[in-house]
Amino acid sequence: MNIPMLDLKGQYKKIKGEIDSSIQKVIDSAAFINGPQVHSFEHNLADYLGSKYVIGCANGTDALQIAMMALELKPGDEVIVPSFTYAATAEVVGLLGLVPVLVDVDCSSFNIRVDQIEASISEKTKAIVPVHLFGQGADMDKIMEIASKHKLFVIEDNAQALGAVYTHSDGRKSHYGTIGHIGCTSFFPTKNLGCYGDGGAIMTQDAKLAERVRMVTDHGQRVKYYHDIIGCNSRLDTIQAAVLNVKLQKLDSYSQSRYDAAQIYKELLGGVEDIVLPAEVSNSTHVYHQFTLQLKKKSRDDLKEFLASKGVASMVYYPMSLNNQKAFSSISRIGADLTNSEKLASSVISLPMHTELSPEVQKTIADAVIEFFKE
Ligand SMILES: *Cc1c(COP(=O)(O)O)cnc(C)c1O
Repeated sequence: MNIPMLDLKGQYKKIKGEIDSSIQKVIDSAAFINGPQVHSFEHNLADYLGSKYVIGCANGTDALQIAMMALELKPGDEVIVPSFTYAATAEVVGLLGLVPVLVDVDCSSFNIRVDQIEASISEKTKAIVPVHLFGQGADMDKIMEIASKHKLFVIEDNAQALGAVYTHSDGRKSHYGTIGHIGCTSFFPTKNLGCYGDGGAIMTQDAKLAERVRMVTDHGQRVKYYHDIIGCNSRLDTIQAAVLNVKLQKLDSYSQSRYDAAQIYKELLGGVEDIVLPAEVSNSTHVYHQFTLQLKKKSRDDLKEFLASKGVASMVYYPMSLNNQKAFSSISRIGADLTNSEKLASSVISLPMHTELSPEVQKTIADAVIEFFKE
């Protein structure tokens, strides 16, 4: 038996006709760079999210870097980031000569501890980057309130929660990525809206900022061959946009499949005392980019090995908190107590989660997990 983390082939098979013809159109037109599909996708994603502006770029890491460049953050400026996240978030901060200020995450939502943000702000702090980890969003009203009080920018790293919806304290609903000054996302194949290569996008509600973002993605030019600022070259590929135009229409049903699979896991694993199941907070929908367990007593590495021996894949996102990573040790500042990040790094494990999971396969996975804890 071999149960993988993902089933991108199975997903493709169901939409092969639409995908193949959409890609073929690009090849037939030979408009490989900035073809019409790029603009239609930007428009379609903006419509879907309820965002005024969406600008495509080459990948999610670039999206974060471009956001920080467009906001004119300067070397030495501080950017608050959670210490339990994918490294790309803090990496671009370092790449631009900015200082990542690490704060902790909440153990049940895996998201930034809002109660630690204010104490970690200094006179150099310019931005906060909440990461909507594993498919569930952070508490944006509180983050926006702190940001406006201290005149900080908010850059949402929405690489893992595209499609998730936030309910504001007044009952209004917004898609994650459209609440902060800038939102960033990734279309890496394994993300909830994945293309067939690399891709990313930036969203904002501010016309001036949108124009600056577009300039940064295109060598700092507004008019061809007239370069006003230092930018970079980061484009969403036309073939990827053609794939995304098809898959965006399925995103809500993909999110539902993931959510349903999560409920099945929760039911099957509800009786296992040694694990903490992922929690659902009240003000964010959950699109289950990952289904992540925490082990209370036993070793998650032993569980990983046991599952592998049964042919069940699992992954550890993430095995090391950023404060312990070599790359960040000399450039970051510890903004707060990081106990939860360190605890999570040693106790989390993610089970297979994707749009093609069947209840039968989930039963096999859950039975293997249950067997491990009986030993
Ligand atoms: C995937 C991811 C990124 C980077 O996206 P790429 O397209 O791989 O560059 C950034 N932040 C988070 C939280 C991610 O999961």
